[in-house]
Amino acid sequence: DIMIVNKDYFGSYSSFGIHKEMISDKVRTDAYRQAIVGNPSLLKGAVVLDVGCGTGILSLFAAQAGASTVNAVEASEKMASVASQIAKDNGLLWNQASNGSGVIKVMNSMVEDLIESGQIEPRSVDVLVSEWMGYCLLYETMLSSVLVARDHWLKPGGAMLPDTATMFVAGFGKGATSLPFWENVYGFNMSSIGKELVEDAAHLPIVDVVDADNLVTNTALLQTFDLVTMKHDEVDFTATVQLEHKSLNSSEVQSTTTKCYGVVIWFDTSFTSRFCKESPTVLSTSPYTPPTHWSQTLLTFTEPISLTSKMLPNKSSSMVGSEVNPAVKIDSRISIARGVEHRSIDISLEVIAV
Ligand code: SAH
Repeated sequence: DIMIVNKDYFGSYSSFGIHKEMISDKVRTDAYRQAIVGNPSLLKGAVVLDVGCGTGILSLFAAQAGASTVNAVEASEKMASVASQIAKDNGLLWNQASNGSGVIKVMNSMVEDLIESGQIEPRSVDVLVSEWMGYCLLYETMLSSVLVARDHWLKPGGAMLPDTATMFVAGFGKGATSLPFWENVYGFNMSSIGKELVEDAAHLPIVDVVDADNLVTNTALLQTFDLVTMKHDEVDFTATVQLEHKSLNSSEVQSTTTKCYGVVIWFDTSFTSRFCKESPTVLSTSPYTPPTHWSQTLLTFTEPISLTSKMLPNKSSSMVGSEVNPAVKIDSRISIARGVEHRSIDISLEVIAV
């Protein structure tokens, strides 16, 4: 039952811990602040819509940047009332009586349900801001709600913050798995646990921080979304990626072989110069940049694939990717689609050729 699932979902946001975690994620919150406060020509006098305001942090930034009205929409009753109190305590809550002293209007509703009420004029919004990203970008995604809001309220040519989202993939080595940990526990070999965990991981994605040193391939682009133009069904996609040994293009004389255990997925969202003329910025959740509360998402192969940096002679195709005949590249197909359960996603990873 979608209503019950929804109630649990919004209930989980009523715990302040998750808001503390999000606000304390400096990479995340600084990127939004820079995009909003760092672009006064975009925000000055603008009508803003904050989809899923939570504590109201993004609305507060927008008010600080000189917005004329900030519509802060929040589905959780608890968070909406907290956001009102916070806006009030900072002298920024809109109040008819006080004649324009504050600009933030907090509305407790699913953004979708506001369409009926007409509380916000259709096509009246200059800037739509939202922090909608989930694990692996799309888990528990609010993106569909953001697109509904865009279509109904954003003025033609209005700004989306962020305005693009990009997903990336790279292959990971043994170090990113729990195998090394279990191989030596106070000098005892507990690797059977590690092997079991790696087998289990072949059925379920793992959310964890991956050290860039544990990536064994190049980085491939998985998918890009243009938040301004994308259609609703483009949230579900299938893409193929080609991964090669990290040192393939180096000038190494000797070929090196490494085992690839699976792929890591991460995303960037960007506030590009399309709207953020003074101060464009990128919020990256890459293993090559400081970690965020999104970590990265790992998908494990059923069997590790041996990869080499140089083609070896006499490759017998049946054995490619094995220790005997390592592969030079892995072609894989990744599909991500909204699941049957509300806000879940289905991810599939298929190795199509090595
Ligand atoms: N903007 C805040 C909170 C982000 S978390 C910040 O940056 O810190 C996302 C918030 O969106 C949660 O508080 C959740 O309850 C709310 N939310 C999710 N889907 C929504 C919807 N369809 N309508 C309104 N609020 C929604």
